Amino acid sequence: MTRAFKTLDDMGDIAGKRVLVREDLNVPMADGAVTDDTRLRAAVQTVAELADRGAIVIVLAHFGRPKGMRNPAMSLSLVTRPFSQVLGRQVAFLDDEGAGNAVAMMRPGDIGLLENTRFDPGEEKNAPETVDRLASLGDLYVNDAFSAAHRAHASTEGLAHRLPAFAGRQMEAELDALDKALGNPEHPVAAVVGGAKVSSKLDVLRHLVEKVDHLIIGGGMANTFLAARGVDVGKSLCEHELTGIAEEILDAADKANCTVHLPYDVVVAKEFRANPPVRTVNVHEVAPDEMILDVGPAATEALADVLKTCRTLVWNGPMGAFETPPFDTATVALAKTAAALTKEGSLVSVAGGGDTVAALNQAGVADDFSFVSTAGGAFLEWMEGKALPGVAALQQ
Ligand code: ADP
Ligand code: MG
Repeated sequence: MTRAFKTLDDMGDIAGKRVLVREDLNVPMADGAVTDDTRLRAAVQTVAELADRGAIVIVLAHFGRPKGMRNPAMSLSLVTRPFSQVLGRQVAFLDDEGAGNAVAMMRPGDIGLLENTRFDPGEEKNAPETVDRLASLGDLYVNDAFSAAHRAHASTEGLAHRLPAFAGRQMEAELDALDKALGNPEHPVAAVVGGAKVSSKLDVLRHLVEKVDHLIIGGGMANTFLAARGVDVGKSLCEHELTGIAEEILDAADKANCTVHLPYDVVVAKEFRANPPVRTVNVHEVAPDEMILDVGPAATEALADVLKTCRTLVWNGPMGAFETPPFDTATVALAKTAAALTKEGSLVSVAGGGDTVAALNQAGVADDFSFVSTAGGAFLEWMEGKALPGVAALQQ
């Protein structure tokens, strides 16, 4: 496969070379302990491979939002031990003061973790002095943090212009998966877009209608589209001021030969709480005091049939208020269909978004999707068709 970026396979002999590796180690902590080590585990492959190949590995990462000031509560010294445990190897914490001397003492195969890149006010400004300071510590640069690639910071973008730059294994897997889903997908392509509000995903919708064959709109945002088509959505979450924009998106889809699927039956309730009395109704039968909280069973089945005709699926946003039972029903059912089709080998399925990942975990199918992105903001910007600066810099 020819790619627009270089990977660890293109680095050649790196024994004794100092390699700066940007990882995302921004883990949640409580009482001094890491509460979710997903990001630490995701960094292992690249760091271990570089060390095994005899590089002097210097890890760069941010931690929290210290806004360019030193803040002991956000020191990466707190993450050094947990990272070392997950890695199963020693990791030395390299404080900014004397980092140069510490690196000079490191031997091939050693691993060091530099202090929080965001303690330096030049990091988020991508300041040349900061890029210089970091570049002086390494010979080569590896970016393995797709989730930070939507920011043009010194450690995510600037360094790629200063040192020979390569994508780490995690970055490589993410870029390959995203390329299969929207860059060079097998058609027909379906996109599922759900979640609360149209306003948070306008650019996503505008981009997708140009790219996909089927656009499935669910969740709260479907209500705004239904309202645009003259449906009375009662007390549902709905952005009435955006119905004009919803119509524009529907027109653009028409022109681009993208079929838009809106629910035609829905699950409604008068109160938003767990297990209230519910009705399943046609969208034209929603009462003025009712809220649409999930896609109905008939529409869900029709959507499953759409997925069966597709080769590629990209999914962001739940179909209903999935945190509150029973309004996870459509999301879980459609996720199970997508997972089964993926297992059969007829569908490439890529999903992302904070709540989407939670919903797929709730459905127990996250592992059956082809790829689940935990990148959050970077994933959404990619769904919007934006060039991510950290990725673009690797592609030059
Ligand atoms: P993601 O984090 O995956 O990008 P969003 O944040 O856009 O997803 O949307 C998730 C939220 O949308 C969830 O909190 C869910 O409860 C809410 N939601 C989905 N459908 C509805 C609905 N019909 N009414 C109200 N909220 C909804
Ligand atoms: Mg969310």
